[in-house]
Amino acid sequence: MVGLEVEGKPLMRAYSIASANYEEDLEFFSIKVPNGPLTSRLQHLKEGDPILIGKRPSGTLIVDNLLRGKTLWLLSTGTGLAPFLSVIRDPSVYGRYERIVLTHTCRNVRELAYRDYLTQTLPQDEFLGEFVREKLIYYPSVTREDFANRGRITDLIANGKLFGDLGVEPLSVEHDRLMLCGSAQMLKDTRALLEAYGLQEGSQSSPGHYVVERAFAS
Ligand SMILES: Cc1cc2nc3c(=O)[nH]c(=O)nc-3n(C[C@H](O)[C@H](O)[C@H](O)COP(=O)(O)OP(=O)(O)OC[C@H]3O[C@@H](n4cnc5c(N)ncnc54)[C@H](O)[C@@H]3O)c2cc1C
Repeated sequence: MVGLEVEGKPLMRAYSIASANYEEDLEFFSIKVPNGPLTSRLQHLKEGDPILIGKRPSGTLIVDNLLRGKTLWLLSTGTGLAPFLSVIRDPSVYGRYERIVLTHTCRNVRELAYRDYLTQTLPQDEFLGEFVREKLIYYPSVTREDFANRGRITDLIANGKLFGDLGVEPLSVEHDRLMLCGSAQMLKDTRALLEAYGLQEGSQSSPGHYVVERAFAS
């Protein structure tokens, strides 16, 4: 939970931590909702201003909630990219999987945040660069303007374009594991697709083929 003190009371909202689990500084990736109670204020924050951070993190996008597999798919829309920025900076994840595919779908190209970081900075990172160059595939797509990859991620999965573009086999129960973070509609549609492939949702008590987190509450 991240927030600000407003008129003497904490105004808190759920946030994903975008920084890696070993970093001392916490990084967040935030929407600016016009007239949003928190983000209309948060966007005017200046260096040195105080913010509130909840003490107990919680969430479901945990590799231990997944069965072992070969490819880890991280499917995000909008600010749903945030938790995956943390996952792809965790060296142990590269030890577990042969390949990690990060998809990020937005309406417009300018909303593809972190694109330069993912395509240029991270592959050259002193510590992670080698893992990233060898195993990480970044696949951005947009829905509302011309771009190399166009369309909703569910459509790109359903029509096979995603797999064709990457030159990989379609999803299989045996090899593929997924984490989803996006809007309620994206999660509903993707869940239905994955279940059709025979993939099952995992949890701490019962690891499965995919795990899900909301990028925001509707
Ligand atoms: C589990 C979880 C994790 C979250 N992680 C993040 C995160 O990492 N980054 C982030 O920016 N937000 C995240 N959110 C959303 C966040 O909690 C707030 O909703 C957001 O900061 C806006 O706060 P607000 O008070 O300005 O507006 P709110 O009153 O909270 O939201 C107003 C409306 O704006 C829309 N909205 C809110 N957040 C988003 C968003 N991220 N993308 C698109 N539309 C949105 C919704 O329709 C909502 O009803 C998360 C929410 C949940 C439940």
